[in-house]
Amino acid sequence: MYEGAVQDLIDELGRLPGVGPKSAQRIAFHLLAADSTDVTRLIAALHRVKDEVRFCRVCGNVAEADECRICRDARRDLTVICVVEEPKDVVAVERTGEFRGRYHVLGGAISPIEGIGPDDLRVRELLTRLRDGTVTELILATDPNLEGEATATYLARLVKPMGLRVTRLASGLPVGGDLEYADEVTLGRAFSGRRSLDV
Ligand SMILES: [Zn+2]
Repeated sequence: MYEGAVQDLIDELGRLPGVGPKSAQRIAFHLLAADSTDVTRLIAALHRVKDEVRFCRVCGNVAEADECRICRDARRDLTVICVVEEPKDVVAVERTGEFRGRYHVLGGAISPIEGIGPDDLRVRELLTRLRDGTVTELILATDPNLEGEATATYLARLVKPMGLRVTRLASGLPVGGDLEYADEVTLGRAFSGRRSLDV
């Protein structure tokens, strides 16, 4: 336990994902000893990300305009939507070069333990996008772990009455992991080998 400002900083850093108490303390002391120009640059980057980056009103991906670069791209296939958990997953799928459709970013996965239900995710927005019948295939590319599988099953059941093709990435992805940790080749292969999900 430290005094005032140092402890406040440690507490704030400790709230970041993947930063435990020890790391928070190490980062805090690193910043304390750092050049003030470096710290100023970090502060500016934080301000910019909050001021300039928004979320695409269509798909929920990060965007610097009303709609993201992918949703604005007229060459993308409008009949396929790939559902992912986070914007970083969009980047992972884009890197494979296997997908030419559009995305839908849920903003997480269903997790009873963390108290995250369908209403906390962009599920309603997804249903709205599917309503006019343009989309004929929904690829569920949520993470290959418990929460991701539960989310995929939930969505597959939910959209079943709409009669579109619902697919899930092929096996071969590291189970229990995160989509972003799969290498491009593995993820690309899982994409081209996707299969229909029967629920
Ligand atoms: Zn978008």
